[in-house]
Amino acid sequence: MDRSERERYSRQILFPGIGEKGQEALLRAHAAVVGCGALGSFHAAALCRAGVGIITIIDRDFVEYGNLHRQWLFDESDAAEALPKAAAAVRQLARINSSTRVHGLVEDLTSSNIDELLEGANLILDGTDNFETRYLINDYSVSRGIPWIYGAAVASYGLTMPVIPGRTACLRCVYPDPPSGAQPTCDTAGVLNVTASAVASLQVAAALKILCGDPDNLCARITTIDVWTGGIRQAGPPPRDPDCPACGRGEFPYLENLRREPARLCGRNAVQVNERPRPIDLQELKTRLEPLGDVRANEFALRFFPTPYEMTVFPDGRAIIKGTSDTGVARSLYARYVG
Ligand SMILES: [Zn+2]
Repeated sequence: MDRSERERYSRQILFPGIGEKGQEALLRAHAAVVGCGALGSFHAAALCRAGVGIITIIDRDFVEYGNLHRQWLFDESDAAEALPKAAAAVRQLARINSSTRVHGLVEDLTSSNIDELLEGANLILDGTDNFETRYLINDYSVSRGIPWIYGAAVASYGLTMPVIPGRTACLRCVYPDPPSGAQPTCDTAGVLNVTASAVASLQVAAALKILCGDPDNLCARITTIDVWTGGIRQAGPPPRDPDCPACGRGEFPYLENLRREPARLCGRNAVQVNERPRPIDLQELKTRLEPLGDVRANEFALRFFPTPYEMTVFPDGRAIIKGTSDTGVARSLYARYVG
């Protein structure tokens, strides 16, 4: 560390949990942020300010005005230009700390590109908006021995859990399978900006501890927080399940592409999303989507019109999204409105 670095990070170095040794480790570290929305943009900014040497940001979406109230890294000019979030993040982070190398990847993380996109990362922060990607990250993390920090935020409520492979419970020890049915999302239930920053702060604190080389003292609890009621609960740390499909039996179906990828429907400018059987109560989903626009449902299908697209959801969880042939856009719409 040179004199300017010592000066720049002096208040962080004074903190005994980090110290000079921890700061050196941060300067050499490579963290990946998957999903650069409300959680991910906070992760990226905090890691960059803390002096993490390399940050990889993976996000498939573009900045919209509806993001600005909670996505700390973006401003009106990013939304006016409809910049990809990964590109807008690179631009903004360069202003915050020009010594950090930031890779902005405008990509949809899948089993086929995860090895390439996350290559070299020592740690993964979860800023995603869907369970499919979280289970993929968990399989990758456990099979490669790379820690990741799970985080989720919606409305005033959020939770977080660090996963250190071989040492703590993994996501599938606690939740063996993704939840069934439609889930509340920021697009259907709303979200407060402080929910996201509270959850993201806890995630970054765990990340700094791991990257500083102090994972032994990390207590991998599940923390749930409600910023509106002020309630904070901690459980655990959860026990590892010796029969866990991922860290117990070494089965990695999300990584091995055993699920069905979204498929372009030939000649129709439409994509079918059908990743896993997932029974959905269409009437319940209709109630959730009604405040957002025209939605119709019967026992066979639900139809919703998020401009300029048309989304048809079936009771088995399958959906057809018309108006795009881009599977990343289709997955993003599915995550936003079905969860
Ligand atoms: Zn496990």
